[in-house]
Amino acid sequence: MSPIVEHSTPVPSAAVLGPFGGGGHALMLGHVHPDADVLGTLLALGLALEGRGWTVTYGGPHPAPALLAFLPGVERYRTLTMLDGPIDVVVLTDCPNPQRTEGLIEQARRVGKLIVNIDHHPDNRRYGDVNWVDTSAAATGEMIYELLTALGAPLTPAVATNLFTAIHTDTGSFRYSNVTPRTFAIAAALVAAGARPEVVSESLYERRAPDALRWLGEALTRVEISEDGRLGWLALPTGLVPERIVESEELVNYPRSVASVRVACLLRERDGEVKVSLRGKGDVDVQKIAAQFGGGGHVNAAGCTVIGPLPEATRVVLAAVRRAVDGSRMS
Ligand code: 5GP
Ligand code: MN
Repeated sequence: MSPIVEHSTPVPSAAVLGPFGGGGHALMLGHVHPDADVLGTLLALGLALEGRGWTVTYGGPHPAPALLAFLPGVERYRTLTMLDGPIDVVVLTDCPNPQRTEGLIEQARRVGKLIVNIDHHPDNRRYGDVNWVDTSAAATGEMIYELLTALGAPLTPAVATNLFTAIHTDTGSFRYSNVTPRTFAIAAALVAAGARPEVVSESLYERRAPDALRWLGEALTRVEISEDGRLGWLALPTGLVPERIVESEELVNYPRSVASVRVACLLRERDGEVKVSLRGKGDVDVQKIAAQFGGGGHVNAAGCTVIGPLPEATRVVLAAVRRAVDGSRMS
C-alpha cells in the first residue's frame, strides 16, 4: 500500500509533485456530468504533461457538455466504460467522492499504479494514494495553476484558457465569496498567458440557441418564493423544458437573485430521480443540507440526488431547507 499523503496548503508539496516528475501513461479521470472546473483542470494538466512527453488519456462516465465544446482539447475527452492498463498515474480533479465515477475508480485502482486526488471540496474523502485538498482554493483551477507553476510547465494559451474557464465558472464570473486576491492574481497570470476573458464569457453566456429564451421564460414561470421570502425554488418535471436548456442555463441562479432569498433550490426530475441544486448566500451551509440526502459540495453551492416523484422530493428537500434557514435565523 502506498502511503496516503495529505496536504492542505495552496502550494503543492514534493509528494504531490512526485508522480508528475517522470513520464509514462496518465489517465485524466472525470466524474459524473463534468463541469468546467473538472474538465478545465483535467485538460490543462493533461496538455501540460503531454508537453513533457507523457501519453495522456482523458475521459469519464459522461461526455463533456456541448456548452464546453470550446475548451481547448475537449474533443479528446471520451466517455469511458472500461479502462485499459497499465496506467502509471490516474488523476482525479474536483472530485470529492469516488462514488461519483460510476465504478471507474475501482477499475482505475486495478489497472493504475497510483491514484492522485486534487480537489478543493471540504467534504473530500481522501480516497487517493496521493491527496491534495486545498479548501481555500475558489476552484480546483487555482490548484492546477499552482501545480503547473511548481512543475515549471509552460502556460500555453490552451492551458491558460482551460484554467481561466475553470476559475471563471466556479466563482460565478468572479462574483462569489470564494474569490480571493489570489484568485485575481492567478486570473491575471492566465490572461497574460493567452486566456481571453471576452471569448470565455461569450462562449459561456452568449451562445444561446434562437429558441432558448422562450424555454427560459417557460422554466421561470415555475419559480416560487416562500411567504417569508427566504426560500426560493424551481421544480421542473421531466420534459417541461428540453434538457439542453436546463444544462446550459444555471436555473438555480434565478431564485437566488431575489434579494430576500437565503437558500435557492432547483429540483429537476430525471429518470425517476430528482437532481437537486442548492445555493446559499453565506448564512446557511447548504453543503450540510445536501449531505442529509447523501450529496455534498461547498458552503454556498451543493447538490444531491433524491429518489421519488418530484412533488414528494420537493416536499422533503424544502422541509430540510426550511429547518436550516430557520435555524440560522435563531442563531
Ligand atoms: P450543481 O448544483 O452545480 O450540480 O453542484 C454544485 C456543487 O455541489 C458542486 O460543487 C458539486 O460538486 C456539488 N454536487 C452537486 N451534486 C452533487 C451530488 O449529487 N453529490 C455530491 N457529493 N456533490 C454534489
Ligand atoms: Mn470546483
